[in-house]
Amino acid sequence: MDGSVEPRADALLVRFWGVRGSISAAGARYEEFGGNTPCVEIRCGEKLFIVDAGTGLVALGAILGAAAPQEIDILLSHLHLDHIAGLPFFKPAMMSDRRLRIHCGNLRGETAEVALDRLFSPPLFPISLSQLPGQVEQVGFKAGDTLSFGDGIEVRTIPLNHPGGATGYRFAYRGQAVCYISDIEHSDPWPPPDLAAFVAGANLVIYDGMFSETEYLRCQGWGHSTWQKGIDLCEAAGVTSLAIFHLHPQHDDAYLRGVEAEISARMPGAFVAREGSAFLYPGEA
Ligand SMILES: [Zn+2]
Ligand SMILES: [Zn+2]
Repeated sequence: MDGSVEPRADALLVRFWGVRGSISAAGARYEEFGGNTPCVEIRCGEKLFIVDAGTGLVALGAILGAAAPQEIDILLSHLHLDHIAGLPFFKPAMMSDRRLRIHCGNLRGETAEVALDRLFSPPLFPISLSQLPGQVEQVGFKAGDTLSFGDGIEVRTIPLNHPGGATGYRFAYRGQAVCYISDIEHSDPWPPPDLAAFVAGANLVIYDGMFSETEYLRCQGWGHSTWQKGIDLCEAAGVTSLAIFHLHPQHDDAYLRGVEAEISARMPGAFVAREGSAFLYPGEA
């Protein structure tokens, strides 16, 4: 973890805890970019948001420990397994004086409770989330809604093209903005004007670049996109910083370094997300 980047009252912080898509990856070939499934820490000043609850959530919970805020908002893109598997292993959920709010936007306004109870209940899992010591509150909204959290924080959302739907997020705080656009399959033509407008002006766009254009031809309809389409989106929107995310579980470090060389040659501010890396907007003066 890049512990040198700390939250600041006037800044927006992004830290990657899991960048891998579909299923985790482990072993020496995955050390540089990391093998945990999606989880991103976003801090608007001191306020903690967690986007997606993949296996990366476990390490975040361990680091937070006793310093975990009383109230933690977890914003889910959707409920596919790679985005929720960390939930029952999140340390603050073991603390009776902590409240987790789980926000879900791709179920037509319904909360995630019924769906999560299907997975986290016997015989698939020993207990339900509501049986954890921590207080769990389920919040449903419709992707496209703007969520309000006060303190000058604005969280806009947008529906994404993915099997069963997914929610994209835009966090804006003190004139800075970060967008999380995963899981998504691009359309033709690309990008749609509403998505380009949604990400316009962001300091950073985190984008589902699971495939190369060649790989994508064999994976159409799976709900994922390519790093080339991430660049196209940013170029159309005038965004200069792009993190390729939801990495394919078989793309090892050597392969991803090649991807990074390719994308940064086309767009200098484009990179492949690394577990543990962190960014602060605005940066140090
Ligand atoms: Zn996924
Ligand atoms: Zn998915």
